[in-house]
Formats: sequence, C-alpha cells, structure tokens
Amino acid sequence: MSVTIKSKSDLQKLREAGRIAARALEHAGNVIRPGMTTKQLDRSIHDFIVSCGAVPTFLGYGGFPGSACISINQEVIHGIPSPKRVIHEGDIVSVDVGATYDGFVGDNAYTFAVGDISEEAADLLRVTEESLYAAIDASRVGARLGDVSHTVEEYCASRGYGIVREYCGHGIGREMHEDPEVPNYGRPGHGLRLMPGMTFCIEPMINQKGDAIRVLRDGWTVMTANGSLAAHFEHEIAVTQDGPVILTRP
Ligand code: MG
Repeated sequence: MSVTIKSKSDLQKLREAGRIAARALEHAGNVIRPGMTTKQLDRSIHDFIVSCGAVPTFLGYGGFPGSACISINQEVIHGIPSPKRVIHEGDIVSVDVGATYDGFVGDNAYTFAVGDISEEAADLLRVTEESLYAAIDASRVGARLGDVSHTVEEYCASRGYGIVREYCGHGIGREMHEDPEVPNYGRPGHGLRLMPGMTFCIEPMINQKGDAIRVLRDGWTVMTANGSLAAHFEHEIAVTQDGPVILTRP
C-alpha cells in the first residue's frame, strides 16, 4: 500500500476540484425532477462540469458510459444513465459525481429525495448521511482508519441497516482511486494511522435491509440483493492538524 501525503499546494488544488464536484452535485439537486430520464440528468451534470473548465472524471473510467453514476431506489451505486430510465415522484436517487481539475480529482455523492418520500426512506437517508459526518469527525490525526470505518458500521448497523462490504471509500488525489481503501466496517484501533495531508473519500453505502448486493448483467449497476432501498453519501476529506476538512464543499 502506498498512501500519498499531499502538500499544501496539492491540497489547494484538491479543494478546487472538490468545489467543482460539489457544485456539480448541487446542480444535480437543483435540476432533478419527476419525469426526467437519468440520461437527461447526466447530460446536465456533464455540461455543468465542462462549463467549470473541468473534466467529468467518471466518463470513460473503466469504460463507464456516463459522467455521473445515477442509482434509483434499490440500486446502491454505479447506475448507468439511460434515456429509458425515468425518475418518478417518491424515488430516492443517488448521484455520484467526479470532476478532474488542474490534475486533481474531486469526488462526492448524495442521495436525493424526489418529491415526497416514505418515512422509512427518509430515515434511511438521514441515518446514512449522519454516519458520513460521524466518520468525518473521526478522521483525526493519530486516529486509525479502523476507527473511521467502524464509525459508519456502528452508526448504521445499530439502527438495523445493512452495510455494503464489497465496495468502499478510497484515497484520492491525482488519481480517483488511490490507497488506502476505506471500508464502511472495521475494528476500532486497527489499520492505518492517520496523518496530516492524507486525503480520502468516505462513502457509506447503506441498505434498508441486509448487507447483500448483486451486480446486474450490465456489469455496473449494484443492487440490494433483496430489493430493499439503498442510500449513498460521499465526501472527500483531508486530514489536517486542525481536524478533518471537507474538500467537496460548494
Ligand atoms: Mg468515491
């Protein structure tokens, strides 16, 4: 494992890339509406990123055909934008967006409620997002990566939700996926010791019921195995002497 420590100027650039990724996600939240296809939403996100002078990081990554991953209801992550897929009132829609700017990558995700959603769905979104902020708060100099991972697991599992184990957060910098892996489960007091200048994405992927997932035949879309809802929230952060800093802020 090789974890890169970022310089002050690297962090400045990561903050810029993160800001664009965050604004693209904010833009998605402004334009998403019932009746829209996921392809239309993807196109709008794509155009926004390009208008910022950045490159949509996901487009072509491993052959991915969109600029955003758009995953509806029981889809957990990696949903492929499609002109046949319509967003409906009452859906929860996870949007994951990356932007590359000046050689560095910003990456973040948010699960949007489209119109009125069920109380159960709202609770899943609230708990998943809260677990992300709890894990960010745990990302302090001297803490271990296991502390961060365990925070997500404990927060969500204690409320009866399932933790996706096959996919995880990741280091980030000039590359979208760098070391270390940041799982959403772990043992407190174990793993990498956090140091100033480390940057990584924390991204809880949480199922309403059960941990199990399956991947569709399209090779990308990850679904809950039992068809229950799933939520996904992600921020890119830097570990600093003054505490964790969220890089994906609009
Ligand atoms: Mg990510």
